[in-house]
Amino acid sequence: MTDFVVMRRPLRHILCLTLLLCLALAPSYAAVNYTISFADLEQHLVEVHIILPEGPEQRELQLPVWNALYQVRDFAQYVNWIRARDRAGRPLSIHELNPSRWQIVGAQGGAVIEYQIFLDSPGPFGAQLDSHHAFFNLAQLLMYPVDARNTSMVLRFNQVPEGWHVATPLRSMPGDSFGAESYDSLVDSPVEVGTFQESDFDEGGAHYRVIVDGDPGDYDMKKIVVMLRSIVTSATGWMDDRPFDSYMFLYHFPRGPAGGGMEHAYSTAISVNADVVARDPDLLASITAHEFFHLWNVKRIRPQTLEPVDYSKENYTRALWFSEGCTSTAADFIRLRGGLLDEPHFEQELASGIAELERRPAHLTQSVEDSSLDAWLEGDPYYRRPERSISYYNKGELLGIALDLAVREASHGQASLREVFQWMNLNYAKKGRFFPDSEGVRTAAEAVSHADLGWFFTKYVAGTEEIPWNDFFRVVGLRITQGKTTLADPGFVASRNFDGPMTVEVVNAGSEAEQAGLHAGETVLEINGKTAGLESSQEIARLNPGDSITVKVRSRRGGDRELKWKMGSREEISYELNDMETLTKEQRAQRAAWLKGEAETPPGEHSE
Ligand SMILES: [Zn+2]
Repeated sequence: MTDFVVMRRPLRHILCLTLLLCLALAPSYAAVNYTISFADLEQHLVEVHIILPEGPEQRELQLPVWNALYQVRDFAQYVNWIRARDRAGRPLSIHELNPSRWQIVGAQGGAVIEYQIFLDSPGPFGAQLDSHHAFFNLAQLLMYPVDARNTSMVLRFNQVPEGWHVATPLRSMPGDSFGAESYDSLVDSPVEVGTFQESDFDEGGAHYRVIVDGDPGDYDMKKIVVMLRSIVTSATGWMDDRPFDSYMFLYHFPRGPAGGGMEHAYSTAISVNADVVARDPDLLASITAHEFFHLWNVKRIRPQTLEPVDYSKENYTRALWFSEGCTSTAADFIRLRGGLLDEPHFEQELASGIAELERRPAHLTQSVEDSSLDAWLEGDPYYRRPERSISYYNKGELLGIALDLAVREASHGQASLREVFQWMNLNYAKKGRFFPDSEGVRTAAEAVSHADLGWFFTKYVAGTEEIPWNDFFRVVGLRITQGKTTLADPGFVASRNFDGPMTVEVVNAGSEAEQAGLHAGETVLEINGKTAGLESSQEIARLNPGDSITVKVRSRRGGDRELKWKMGSREEISYELNDMETLTKEQRAQRAAWLKGEAETPPGEHSE
């Protein structure tokens, strides 16, 4: 606000901080210049000041409707006001074309746009300013000039509280500013501003920054760095590639609800509840390996359907089973290679993943490609019901395992999922090409296995056929056995939309939960005194039939109440992976290679 008033006067009359700011802007007139002012921490208000270079007389500015999550979130709802003027300070007319797009006229000599935006959405998929810190996914607050999205961008911060520091993978530039070659790379760079802890390390020729926003008593930085060294060494070795010189891990360990990670080309932002970090280091390693592997899969090995990004509406893609699910498969192999996962736990995780898929009736009606297309419905609780949808994370990870085993079998151990990824890296990513969704994965898998794998993609990727698990696992000498387990049953199903609130989807008829007065659609605030979040399913899993459960809920009209009842029980199918009765020498050799995520024989000339 202050900058705006001052800059409309001739610069020589001004002696204040703003002058320094303006002088610093001078060399960058060809770039789009953004200044983010921390206008009001308590009220979560940011003021954005954009200087546009010379260009067309009539210009349009777009604020993305989505970012980070495959969900339209209409960030424009938070824009309180907007105004524009030319570079001489004369007001320009600004006209709203749709809720997220504005037109200015008379901007041929450049223009200055200012607006105020409210930011209080926490977590790695959000943007937030408060008295503790600021964390920004920049696409949620920065409009871009539609005619200059590929122009170089300069970013500054203003009115930052004393003692706060900035952490971002963006390139540092003179005058405390940061640069990016385009809007897309600018908004692919998360920003943390606050009083975080930092521990950097070098490994394999690259520099890694580790930024943690949390209570230092809640975590052990040394252990985190040991884990990270293992993950980065294992992943770059698995891919035989390191397409960066520096990379930033940005962690938030809040005491309250948290959960999730967001991938970027040169960084990741991850949020995990502080108790979970202490209790379950494997979960942190698993999320971290997944997000780190995304720097290849989805960021560089990128489906054509996500390019170019359309910030103005949904970007439909069938490829998320691969871009998300198989990222989890790769993360499994990275953890196995790095000693962060052992064989029994790996096989247990696979067996419970299979159970999760088989328990959802929708596995026979929704293909994993359709689940990818429907990602944009995940914000709706009804869509998340087991009879309506499957998860492309869950089935995609399992298909990554199945594809790996199919490639091993077809190539007699000469290739694996690792070669599929390396082939895609060389033939798509390194050549600056995007891959044609599932067809591109098939091309890669067939190239490295020298076999026709059309059946795999028809039946299990595009289709909904039951997956004959034992046919796949035979190659490594494993078989799956189905059993029944009695589980403690809370009498309701609840789920969360990423780091959104937990919502009750279904209350089982005749259950104690129903008698206690729980209703579908209500928000679960606490379970047994603990804030509902990522860790709630573990909390419930620890209870036995007959134990009491206390659930604090908020009704749709907003009233909070506490309900208490006794846990029931239910029988569910469960799976176990066990060795086949007799293992051949070949199966043993394949198993050993499988557990390292590599081909039995180095592929050499087979990798085209
Ligand atoms: Zn992911």
